[in-house]
Amino acid sequence: MELIVLTFEASYTRLPEMLWSTCQPTPVKAPKLIAFNAALAARLGGGEPPDEATLAGWFSGNQLPPGAAPVALAYAGHQFGNFVPQLGDGRAVLLGEVVDPQGQRFDVQLKGSGRTPYSRGGDGRAPLGPVLREYLVSEAMAAMGVPTTRALAAVTTGEGVVRQFVEPGAVLTRVAASHVRVGTFQFAALHQDHAALKALADHIIERHYPEVAGAESPYLALFEAVLKRQARLIAKWMGVGFIHGVMNTDNMSIAGETIDYGPCAFMEAFDPQKVYSSIDEGRRYAFSNQPVIAQWNLARFAECLLPLLDGDQETRVEQATAALRRFNDTFDPAWARISADKLGLAEESEQAAQMMAALEAQMQQGRMDMTATFDALTRYAQTANEENRDALLALTEKPDALAPWLDEWQRVQVAGQDEARKQAMRQANPVVIPRNHRVAEVIESAIEGDFAPFYQLLEVVTHPFDESREARQWAAPASDREQVLRTFC
Ligand code: AMP
Ligand code: MG
Ligand code: MG
Repeated sequence: MELIVLTFEASYTRLPEMLWSTCQPTPVKAPKLIAFNAALAARLGGGEPPDEATLAGWFSGNQLPPGAAPVALAYAGHQFGNFVPQLGDGRAVLLGEVVDPQGQRFDVQLKGSGRTPYSRGGDGRAPLGPVLREYLVSEAMAAMGVPTTRALAAVTTGEGVVRQFVEPGAVLTRVAASHVRVGTFQFAALHQDHAALKALADHIIERHYPEVAGAESPYLALFEAVLKRQARLIAKWMGVGFIHGVMNTDNMSIAGETIDYGPCAFMEAFDPQKVYSSIDEGRRYAFSNQPVIAQWNLARFAECLLPLLDGDQETRVEQATAALRRFNDTFDPAWARISADKLGLAEESEQAAQMMAALEAQMQQGRMDMTATFDALTRYAQTANEENRDALLALTEKPDALAPWLDEWQRVQVAGQDEARKQAMRQANPVVIPRNHRVAEVIESAIEGDFAPFYQLLEVVTHPFDESREARQWAAPASDREQVLRTFC
């Protein structure tokens, strides 16, 4: 059998040493492979995978795959608005980078692989539950077309991890465009290490934003490019009802991917103020706050870049502030576009944004499940019959209020409908998302040793637009009894 898989390179360790530390994973007792994402490995250019025992060895950190040279990355960050000068990979190591057949570079990281120089008081480990949640949700996000880190593998360690209870330990292998965060820049800026800051910015430009290299002010152009990617990312989150839960600056990727799935959740009954995370008591990271928080985080990023901008301090601040103020110039059109697709309307219309706002009010007042609402609307757009109309009206506690909106929508929608529009509408409206109670259920089974429900759920959430009856069995919102109201890291 041809041995794998991935050829590792290391560009990050060419950056100044203050940004990273060499660090070996800590071996675990009895690694066992739970999942290996063969499709992703193939896309990264991997060959025929080796046997399971070898994979379990690699993805637990017990053996290093050929060429891997693990390092933990340093970063700082604002956690819930409070600056923490020393964070960093406290339970993760970067194995190395792989370059896919298209020439795109990706990080491969073990998460839960033991203590590092940045562990502070932590044990460096990850419980099985959060590993499975990140696996499911990140793969679902990818399938829904939302930029995200990916899950390459998961293993159990055969060791217990002490949290509220003793839980089985696990390691997730994560693939990311890179792991550089706003917090990485904050770390370099905090230490006033101009060379490190510039090297980091140049690394990011070369790796993720080569188009800004020739700009008149490349670092200002970098800021604008990162801002645009973030604005588009957040619009996509809003479109699928995703609540990240911990949008700390150390959890915001400079490459514009969703990263660090902790107490994240998909909104069920529509509520702009919705929060699931048990630690977000101030509702800082509520659903509708996400665009504002993204701007707040970007302001922290801009502060880091100031020393690299042109002109005197006042000019630099002015330039950065002006760029920051243009967040909505990207976010609003992105959101209007997503709104139009979700409603099956023509993209450019002001009407789409208004109709979306009106529907949001309906969903909130009528306590309608967001995903079910748009799925039902999609079906109604496909076949405008009484049955589909009634199915939609059955989702609200206030059908009399929704009916006039529906009449108005139908007048506008039917007028411009064509096959491409219908397709776009379906692709904007998932049938199945990783619902919180389903995720909780499969985690519970896995902790008991039964992974079959995890595999089943993974299969359906990675085909989110599947309209088959089997898939739809996973689509239903939680009943009152099933509801998961709080999520934990
Ligand atoms: P997170 O909440 O996962 O984004 O992590 C915030 C910070 O805490 C990061 O610096 C993590 O590396 C660190 N951290 C989280 N869990 C652990 C752990 N079990 N051991 C060591 N560090 C951790
Ligand atoms: Mg170092
Ligand atoms: Mg984090």
